[in-house]
Amino acid sequence: MGHTKKVGTSGRFGVRYGRTTRKKIADIEALYRGYHKCTNCNKKRVKRIAFGIWKCYNCDLKFARKAYLFE
Ligand SMILES: [Zn+2]
Repeated sequence: MGHTKKVGTSGRFGVRYGRTTRKKIADIEALYRGYHKCTNCNKKRVKRIAFGIWKCYNCDLKFARKAYLFE
């Protein structure tokens, strides 16, 4: 009985680890796919238009930032 329970626990841990990794990748994708807050007008209208280039669709300002992350 005890042995069977131990196997089940380790198996569940493996599934949880995989899910966490996938969620992190999804979070990173959402970060560069979605809109970001503009540092000029404070509106969430900044989007990546090219590699390392971001543009605010509200005030038309362009930013040169990291390829995938707007900070
Ligand atoms: Zn703006």
